[in-house]
Amino acid sequence: MNQPLLKCEHVDFGYENYDVVKDVSMEIMPGDYLCIVGENGSGKSTLMKGLLGLLKPTGGTITVIDELKKSGIGYLPQQTPAQKDFPATVEEVVISGCLGKRGNRPFYTQAEKRIAAVNMEKLGVSGLAKSCYRDLSGGQKQRTLIARALCATDKLLILDEPITGLDPSTTQDFYHVIRSLNRREHVAVLMVSHDVQNIVTQANKILHLQQTVQFYGPVDEYRNSACGKKFLGGVD
Ligand code: ADP
Repeated sequence: MNQPLLKCEHVDFGYENYDVVKDVSMEIMPGDYLCIVGENGSGKSTLMKGLLGLLKPTGGTITVIDELKKSGIGYLPQQTPAQKDFPATVEEVVISGCLGKRGNRPFYTQAEKRIAAVNMEKLGVSGLAKSCYRDLSGGQKQRTLIARALCATDKLLILDEPITGLDPSTTQDFYHVIRSLNRREHVAVLMVSHDVQNIVTQANKILHLQQTVQFYGPVDEYRNSACGKKFLGGVD
């Protein structure tokens, strides 16, 4: 089955009565690693909010496979200082990713507990299950939040500027974790990032946004495109 997980056809998003993002057409296939790049203010966060269903399109069509409609999309938000101090254990943070599936039940099922355990194992944080989230290092927090996001679905992971605030070695570890989830576990990845130099070594597809789509396609074509060359500056 080679159906897109998520597909946008001529989609517009905006606020009040003006559109910030116009005429976006793109799709995320199983196994894709798609990065959205662009200058500040180019509409990347707005597009991401739209893809997550937090903003309604003002035009065009978005199609999402049924499984993602039911479970919600695994989302790693930008971390706020309040979230970093969250007084809960790693296990509690991870399993809270199942909340979208839980409805009004006041408890977690055995199946949800298993999903949380599997995802902690995948991200190498099982040994930290009972540790307090706020005592973790930046990299461990990031791994915990990725395990949490995967509790919603292991089909698609959406990340918004995920390396903000990470030091260089934690950043490399983060890219390694994401690439391994993408390659080994076949989790499709959609990432908004300003770290374009690293991104072109990781992703398979690039969407360059400046209100409208300036480039959408394979990363190798992006490197050779006028838009990619300009944005990448000294790279290559
Ligand atoms: P990026 O993520 O690429 O920096 P944004 O999507 O945050 O870009 O912003 C694109 C444009 O939309 C900007 O001009 C910004 O001022 C405007 N914008 C963003 N959020 C809102 C909002 N909640 N209400 C009105 N305008 C907004």
